[in-house]
Amino acid sequence: MKVTVVGGGIAGLAASWTLEGALRGAEVVLVEQGDGVGGVLLTEHEHGFLVEAAADSFLSRKPRGVGICEELGIQDELVGRRPENARSFVRLGRELHPLPEGLTGLVPTDLDALEESTLLSDEGKRRLAEEADLPPEPPGDDESLASFVRRRLGREAWERLVEPLTTGIYGGDGEQLSLRATFPQLRALEEEHGSVLRGLQAQPAAPSGAYPPFVSLRGGMHELADSVAGDLQSTTIDTGSRAVTLRAQDGGYALELESGAAVPADGVVLATPAYATAELVAALDGELAEALAEIPYAGSAVVTLAYRREEVEHPLDGYGYVVPRSEGGHVLACTWTSSKWEGRAPEDRVLLRVFAGRFDLSDDDLVRLAREEVSLLGIRAEPVLTWTHRWPRGLPQYTLGHPERLERIDAALERHPGLALAGAAYRGVGIPDCIASGEEAARAVARALVGAAR
Ligand SMILES: Cc1cc2nc3c(=O)[nH]c(=O)nc-3n(C[C@H](O)[C@H](O)[C@H](O)COP(=O)(O)OP(=O)(O)OC[C@H]3O[C@@H](n4cnc5c(N)ncnc54)[C@H](O)[C@@H]3O)c2cc1C
Repeated sequence: MKVTVVGGGIAGLAASWTLEGALRGAEVVLVEQGDGVGGVLLTEHEHGFLVEAAADSFLSRKPRGVGICEELGIQDELVGRRPENARSFVRLGRELHPLPEGLTGLVPTDLDALEESTLLSDEGKRRLAEEADLPPEPPGDDESLASFVRRRLGREAWERLVEPLTTGIYGGDGEQLSLRATFPQLRALEEEHGSVLRGLQAQPAAPSGAYPPFVSLRGGMHELADSVAGDLQSTTIDTGSRAVTLRAQDGGYALELESGAAVPADGVVLATPAYATAELVAALDGELAEALAEIPYAGSAVVTLAYRREEVEHPLDGYGYVVPRSEGGHVLACTWTSSKWEGRAPEDRVLLRVFAGRFDLSDDDLVRLAREEVSLLGIRAEPVLTWTHRWPRGLPQYTLGHPERLERIDAALERHPGLALAGAAYRGVGIPDCIASGEEAARAVARALVGAAR
């Protein structure tokens, strides 16, 4: 049996890895257009710095991130954030306000701690606390994340707290994001407990797991991709190879490559971003392509700056800060990487990452924007090194209508046994979700092929 996986990001790698176990003896070919695997998981090592181009960690509470590491035997490579700097801030104007203690996910549930916070005004705190007594909306249609949070917790809690935190995950506009596709649990709390606050307060404290809540790998996030790729036994990894069209052929599929070659396969996993997948399946199924093409993407840029430690006035005693959209400007967040993680910079240097909502600026303009931003940390010196990484279509947006789009995609896939989709575009953008989606797609293809062979 032959199975082709398209896309060598973490979802496609996880799919290939699972296929090897689920379809023993099958020939797996992983087709990737780039020079190497990993997709968004890109780590650079230069002059003693470890620079992440995009993701710097993943959630350990979602099982398939640490799960795959354990199965690969690399769990000792997992590292947590530096505990001595465990706090983060929100920037309002040029002032940094600590995030309130006692956040459960996105919502402050410790109202005494919130009282101490300088982030919300007295009116904003009062409005948030009132949530416990607000009557719930009856079950109904989906709504935007912004409208839900404003409705329940008030405008200020949305603008200063929840919006910048969700931008850190989805990168896009909360006015457009579907609550049902992003945080359905918040709506479930309203429906089941009558209030998000009361619902969260009634939940038992999450047991502390075997790992810190956010983990990275000692060698950076690319180490995860490398480890999965290095553990593949019977998969042929075909890098520098762009897939252009998928067609039905002889009860299976043929994948046409830009080189002109056609790869026949009994089963296919497409682990490419939705806009690329839409193009690949256009000749196979117009309705499937249409639904995929409707999934929008948000772009961003990551600017990393290295400084001599003595040239930074601020103690950098935290992990960094987020910037609410309501502040205007193009900067979304600033991570104090060398305070967050061990081993990311030489002892006498600091490493900072500035996230910008603009990816269309020149390198010089991006660095200028980032330098203006970090001037509030008392940094006037020239950086000793800079790196810029652009992600024009980095993060899929689960906008209103996303759940219905997924239903249309699933219905269309029913017409194509042995074809499955994986990746960030569908049911979770975080790395553990992408791994789980690759694994699930592989199992779906294996089930279809084994069923057909019976
Ligand atoms: C700036 C940024 C920061 C992030 N930070 C975090 C974080 O801290 N924690 C976290 O959990 N998640 C984070 N994410 C999200 C997470 O990293 C991604 O959602 C995830 O890595 C996507 O994996 P994937 O395999 O679905 O897609 P990708 O990594 O995009 O892989 C898709 C692959 O398909 C290939 N491809 C596309 N078209 C073709 C074609 N026609 N033929 C052949 N190959 C093709 C691409 O070259 C690419 O390698 C971040 C994302 C971004 C952009």
